[in-house]
Amino acid sequence: MSTVKTTPETYSSSIEEVFSKQQKQSLLMRSENTKQRARRLKALQLWIEKNQKSIQDAIYRDFKKPAVEVNITEIYPVLTEIRHALENLNNWAKPAKVDAPLSLVGTTSYIQYEPKGVCLIIAPWNFPFNLAIGPLVSALAAGNTVVLKPSEMTPHTSELIDTMIGELFKEDEVRVFNGGIEISQELLKLPFDHIFFTGSPAVGKIVMKAAAEHLTSVTLELGGKSPAIVDQTCNLKDAAEKIAWGKFINNGQTCVAPDYVLAHHSVADALKEHLITAARQLFDSQKQGFDLSADYARIVNRKHYDRINELISDALENGAEIAMGGETKPDENFIPPTILTGVSENATVMEEEIFGPVLPIQTYDKIEEAIEFINGKPKPLALYYFGRHSSNKKLILNNTSSGAVCINDCVLHFNHPNLPFGGVNNSGLGKSHGWHGFMAFSNEKPVLKQRVGLTTSKTVYPPYNNRVRQI
Ligand code: NAD
Repeated sequence: MSTVKTTPETYSSSIEEVFSKQQKQSLLMRSENTKQRARRLKALQLWIEKNQKSIQDAIYRDFKKPAVEVNITEIYPVLTEIRHALENLNNWAKPAKVDAPLSLVGTTSYIQYEPKGVCLIIAPWNFPFNLAIGPLVSALAAGNTVVLKPSEMTPHTSELIDTMIGELFKEDEVRVFNGGIEISQELLKLPFDHIFFTGSPAVGKIVMKAAAEHLTSVTLELGGKSPAIVDQTCNLKDAAEKIAWGKFINNGQTCVAPDYVLAHHSVADALKEHLITAARQLFDSQKQGFDLSADYARIVNRKHYDRINELISDALENGAEIAMGGETKPDENFIPPTILTGVSENATVMEEEIFGPVLPIQTYDKIEEAIEFINGKPKPLALYYFGRHSSNKKLILNNTSSGAVCINDCVLHFNHPNLPFGGVNNSGLGKSHGWHGFMAFSNEKPVLKQRVGLTTSKTVYPPYNNRVRQI
């Protein structure tokens, strides 16, 4: 395997060389048919199927993510995305005919979906395989060349991705540049035709500013605080199992994890008990302790471990109580499922995206208060409602804005290939997955064909005499 390179000096000349080669190649790829695009996707599919164990091992080495979790959150979603693209590619790429309005009678028009060209994908570390390769599937389905920068925080997975791409593609089609911020910033200087970025809102702004220099289009898949509202009509055991799974899978490092719970005051205590039971049943079924459980991942590195511990300390200083958790292990970046109650609204844990296994429970009396609380914060990536109250559901749907809403479950919408995935404002810009991902990497080019000779449009040409004035 290649080693992860971290300095721009290692790469800077070669970044430009690759970019220029990809510009030439992307022109050739415009006239390719969908069979050639499908060939690339199938090669990717076969490699992933054949190397499932290597992918599991790499991610385990990065943050002890259990193999089954790798399957269900990294490998299967990418394979589903590939299969969905293979099944639908001919339809997606087919020019779409549109009807002419009366004023343009006699014309024929269609929309041609052309590849954007040379695209840059910058990926985060939290689903290091899925969030690098998922967008690549859409980019290839749409006929683009790609420069891919995985995260430096998960070096084993990034090396594996580099190896995979090196084995499957020529560098004028797809090329990986591994490294940190310096490599990212070198890449961002180039006039890409599209940038697909997944990461934090803070870095999303840096990416958008860099893209503005070249008026490059962007898809920004960002993060934020996704709330889970639990009302008094909800099945608490069921909701607790789903919230505990969505929160503690991947050790809470999931962009669409329920960040905090807003529970109706009448069910908050019971919900807390159900959450504690569910967390134990799901992630410590052998009752050995979460630190010895084979089903519980780790925080990616010491920096994030320290950040999450500071969030917990700050919450406690602001009056919170620990209902579950507390015993951390710095030598292995271990933080157990941690449930906090009585958290002050001013505590940092209620302001910043938590991105770790810490779940604050807040209470509300009236549903309008919960809605007001959510609307007082930047628009979340996802919003979860647990309950069977149809007017509550309607109020929430109509009076909040979020990237997605999931009712009586969480996180699952990510895996639905027919739903657009993405945020709104602070949680993101643009959509991905399936047809929506294909569209992110395509230019919708309208083509209008006119008749030769007499046409309706000629009737309004100057000179503007009385005949034209009467139109
Ligand atoms: P990050 O923004 O720190 O890094 C993402 C990528 O940007 C990495 O490849 C990194 O090398 C690069 N980068 C970092 N700083 C940079 C800079 N100054 N200039 C240029 N490039 C830079 O994000 P992260 O810590 O890897 O991931 C966590 C964040 O990502 C969370 O906010 C999470 O919610 C979000 N996220 C969103 C989604 C989604 O689909 N919406 C999915 C996963 C994660």
